[in-house]
Amino acid sequence: MAKTYSYAAQGSKDLLKPFTFERRALGADDVQIDILYCGVCHSDLHTVRNEWHNTLYPSVPGHEIVGRVTAVGANVSKFKVGDLAGVGCMVDSCQHCASCAEGEEQYCENGFTGTYNGPVFGGENTFGGYSDNIVVKEKFALRISHDNANLAAVAPLLCAGITTYSPLHHWKVGPGKKVGVVGLGGLGHMAVKIAHAMGAHVVLFTTSPNKREDGLRLGADEVVVSKNPEEMTKFANTLDFILNTVAAPHDLDAFLNLLKRDGTMTLVGAPDSPHPSPSVFNLIFKRRSLAGSLIGGIQETQEMLDFCARHGIVSDIEMIDIQNINAAYERMIKGDVKYRFVIDMDSLKKEVKVA
Ligand code: NAP
Ligand code: ZN
Repeated sequence: MAKTYSYAAQGSKDLLKPFTFERRALGADDVQIDILYCGVCHSDLHTVRNEWHNTLYPSVPGHEIVGRVTAVGANVSKFKVGDLAGVGCMVDSCQHCASCAEGEEQYCENGFTGTYNGPVFGGENTFGGYSDNIVVKEKFALRISHDNANLAAVAPLLCAGITTYSPLHHWKVGPGKKVGVVGLGGLGHMAVKIAHAMGAHVVLFTTSPNKREDGLRLGADEVVVSKNPEEMTKFANTLDFILNTVAAPHDLDAFLNLLKRDGTMTLVGAPDSPHPSPSVFNLIFKRRSLAGSLIGGIQETQEMLDFCARHGIVSDIEMIDIQNINAAYERMIKGDVKYRFVIDMDSLKKEVKVA
């Protein structure tokens, strides 16, 4: 058992504070990872504040983990001590249902186990990456193909990267396709980079006029301020696919109207309360689809990491010390992050040494 230092919330109204617990002893199929960096996803905030009404406390969030392997079990073949490794949103699944057999563990019919907050259908809590180490089954650890210099900026690929890559890939985004990305936050900015690298024509929709230049720099071909109805009208019936990453309820019709006949809008944003219902007429008159997508499977996550390494894609990050995590959450709510906070786990290790 490994003594583990972390930051946890003890209840929905509580700030994240230092918390010590023990990771399970290393099993034959496990790797132990010394965590170097952990990205800060909006899902961490939804969970800590119990906005999805399913939080187990204490809550140690963090599912964008990059670190170095410090121990391997007897059956481990993919990693050796000293290797870099990543952990994303899942640490286990049943491994025998149809979804697991197809490498879609995120849709495991018996419920995958989240890196934090335990199995989706209930069970023992799990503790995530706002901590100094993690023990995880080899199968759920990812190889990092980026060079060392960009390691902190690689961490957000483990959730923001795969959550956008998977639907872009599934709905066959590529050359000749006009793709909308809604919201320029952690997920949205990865979607812009990845859709651009896939060869699509990318139109970014943002509520923040001050993100226009960044949108173009990140790879959007056009940027639309979605609060401006005149700008929006110009794009009516023009897009093949829209990836909607917004973390708050909003008018979906405003975006469905922009899809061509047979176009699809896929929601990945998971607000704490429902969107106003879209008009059925906006769907049936152009045979449009409204869909959803959840992270991505382990093999696809590896594919995404390799794709991003090949295309030189990492996240645009602001590095923070773990002691500033509560302030970072407040800034994330205001959309004041360009475009992902990443915790430098040295800040936790130093705090522990001093104490
Ligand atoms: P984020 O960094 O906070 O970005 C969200 C963006 O949405 C903001 O930057 C903002 O972009 C836009 N936005 C926020 N509030 C808005 C409002 N009231 N109206 C319109 N736009 C608004 O969050 P994130 O980490 O990217 O996560 C986004 C959502 O995806 C969260 O709900 C998260 O839980 C969810 N998520 C889902 C999955 C999945 O598997 N489906 C995985 C990870 C995360 P602009 O300023 O450009 O408008
Ligand atoms: Zn996430």
